[in-house]
Amino acid sequence: VSKATDEVSCAICAEKGTDVVAPPRRTIARGADPEDTAFAIIAVLPDVRLCVAHAAQLRDGKLLIGWCDEEQCRRFGRSAEASPCGAPYKALKG
Ligand SMILES: [Zn+2]
Ligand SMILES: [Zn+2]
Repeated sequence: VSKATDEVSCAICAEKGTDVVAPPRRTIARGADPEDTAFAIIAVLPDVRLCVAHAAQLRDGKLLIGWCDEEQCRRFGRSAEASPCGAPYKALKG
């Protein structure tokens, strides 16, 4: 866990995201490349930014991070909760 002091907010709440943690997994499959079906598109996920409280919950296993991969979102949130586009954040376990 590394510390940062900029003003980016927590992925879960509106508090300052002072902790930067590695996501539960680094990549997510977006399916076949439309230009070349021999290749699959794999997106690399960024670090998760969390406030002190949510970073502690994640370490304690009380918080499950999810990711919404819809083009207008592509952001982390609490797994299974609705993201801004309306689709639930998908759990990143496994
Ligand atoms: Zn938070
Ligand atoms: Zn979304």
